[in-house]
Amino acid sequence: MKIIDAHLHCSGREDSAGVLRALDEAGIERAVLLAPFLSPGHALGDAASLRRGNAHLARLVRGHEDRLTGLAVVDPRDDHAAQDLRHAIEGLGLRGVKLVPTGWYPFEERARGVYEVAASLRLPVLFHSGIFIDGRSGRFCRPVYCEALRDHPGTRVALAHMGWPWTDEALAVALIDRIHEVPHERAQFRLDISFGPPKPYRREVLARMLEVLGPGSLQFGSDCFLPCSGEQLRERRDWVQALMDELALDAAAREQIWWGTAAAWLGLEGTDGPRFASSPQGQVLRPLPAARPQPGEEDAQGLGQRLRQTSAAWGWAPRCC
Ligand SMILES: [Zn+2]
Repeated sequence: MKIIDAHLHCSGREDSAGVLRALDEAGIERAVLLAPFLSPGHALGDAASLRRGNAHLARLVRGHEDRLTGLAVVDPRDDHAAQDLRHAIEGLGLRGVKLVPTGWYPFEERARGVYEVAASLRLPVLFHSGIFIDGRSGRFCRPVYCEALRDHPGTRVALAHMGWPWTDEALAVALIDRIHEVPHERAQFRLDISFGPPKPYRREVLARMLEVLGPGSLQFGSDCFLPCSGEQLRERRDWVQALMDELALDAAAREQIWWGTAAAWLGLEGTDGPRFASSPQGQVLRPLPAARPQPGEEDAQGLGQRLRQTSAAWGWAPRCC
């Protein structure tokens, strides 16, 4: 079974050969690598260090795009963040962005420029959500704050860690796409199940996510830090495997979590996600039709009727507001 690790951290000390070897050892076909921002020499509040990290990541993935997808890191508190993101994509060849709200809230005006670049380039956006385990305050990272991305329908968001401890909140944010009957492949929100809740919660939380959202909203991520051994990656993989066994998931659900959800998020061939195509100028993106009617495209009567139908399907009494 093919596996995408959709959440793997770079430190700046890894090299391409070592990363590919670890993936091979762990039986992981493709990895989404995040530019360094937590390791010595890199910090979210230091824009120059993030630029260096993005350049490092670009060198790391170059020539290995069939296995490695690089996500730039920018910090919207910096005035040049949007410009840096555009350069990371169009100049360096990275394919998405990781955002870590710390010292800023995702709904703040100053983040808009970054979202606009991400929307116009149809980028996969990975948001940290939930508490931090290093002791920083998680108060900026509640999943509901990421609803602000709904104002930028071209973005394709993954909320990391299922937002723990706000897992119901993360579920509710992703549920909106389900209520509007947006196909999973084109949904604006999905959740990565990396790390997430502490062990005693995991089975219950994953079961609830599967029951309400379905496997098409969930993707695997190890949340390991490179350089690491294949054994470490394998251990994270085995945690998820054990949960899948406990929950008796069928082959299709497993395939979706290991590969399908992230493949669509990244726009890999064979999915209905956003496409990058090579051109002499760099990366050109094929426009994707809007996933659901945009404001003004559907009249109030049509919207009311559609929501009455979906509310009934979800077992809710139709209600206004
Ligand atoms: Zn992480």
